[in-house]
Amino acid sequence: MNEFALIEQFFKSIPIKSKEVLFGIGDDAACLQIPPGNNLLVSTDTLVSGIHFLPEWGAYDIARRSVMVNISDMAAMGATPRWLTLALTLDKFDSHWLTEFTRGLTDSLNQYNLDLIGGDTTHGPLSISLTILGLAPDGLAIRRSGASPGDVILVSGQLGAAALALKLLNNQEVSLEDKRELMDKLLYPTPRTDLISILRQYASAAIDISDGLSADLNHICDASKVGACLIEKQIPVHPLLNKYSNAQSIDLALSGGDDYELCFTVPAGQVNALYNDLSKENLVCYPIGFIEETLGLRIKKLDNQLEHLVPKGYSHF
Ligand code: ADP
Ligand code: MG
Repeated sequence: MNEFALIEQFFKSIPIKSKEVLFGIGDDAACLQIPPGNNLLVSTDTLVSGIHFLPEWGAYDIARRSVMVNISDMAAMGATPRWLTLALTLDKFDSHWLTEFTRGLTDSLNQYNLDLIGGDTTHGPLSISLTILGLAPDGLAIRRSGASPGDVILVSGQLGAAALALKLLNNQEVSLEDKRELMDKLLYPTPRTDLISILRQYASAAIDISDGLSADLNHICDASKVGACLIEKQIPVHPLLNKYSNAQSIDLALSGGDDYELCFTVPAGQVNALYNDLSKENLVCYPIGFIEETLGLRIKKLDNQLEHLVPKGYSHF
């Protein structure tokens, strides 16, 4: 099968749902009508075989994970994810693999009301590069640079499970049930689109925790020219970390990547209103510290000692 037949069979057949797509796959470029009063946000994430996923993972899961990590970037910006392009590099033509990949892609597109509007298909080492486009009301996109001293730092969920999954992949002492729960966290991150409207209303800065909390919070601090102090006892460590990782559990929660929860800051005067709005929607976020004028990261340990915190997380080079 050549490249054009492949695109036709697997990707062009996915129906387009949104009226803003004037035309999608089939021309040299897709054409979108941006609704008035909106900004268009664009972000790309690449997943390389052997680095971001293992080639033996199912193609369905690989497709799903690729879409989810891209959606997470939109959620972090307070943008509603809408459209995707897919640059797919395949090591071989494998009809079964492509069928499963397309099924995972289509399910993810449907779950989040996204359209696949274009892409590129090439031959080489397996990698999946998605560009996601999203919309935010004019001027409301949330950046990393908006945090100010006094702001409360929050995270949207428990941390460390995906990193623990990688660590325990081949450990025989972990129960099957726990292993499944951990692998689900790694394979199926749930992007926090449920927080988008709340972030638009309250967040002064936000980022998704893809590399690890301390590394990603440090990006907010760098961009905002501030520092931060975390409170160890308030960090929501995933319960399975305490079960299997004991002494290292706080380190994994602080520096293990792949959680795809959100870290965001909110001016102190607005946190009560934030908690009210969160509880109305049955959502929970955890306050974990404060933004400070003094640059760098610090952590108040369980014994109340203040320690310097070295930002640690995944980095490619
Ligand atoms: P070009 O010759 O301009 O590179 P292609 O032959 O690569 O165009 O692509 C033809 C059409 O198919 C384009 O509209 C492109 O966006 C779309 N396309 C190619 N590969 C993919 C893919 N993996 N997923 C979705 N759309 C794709
Ligand atoms: Mg091309």
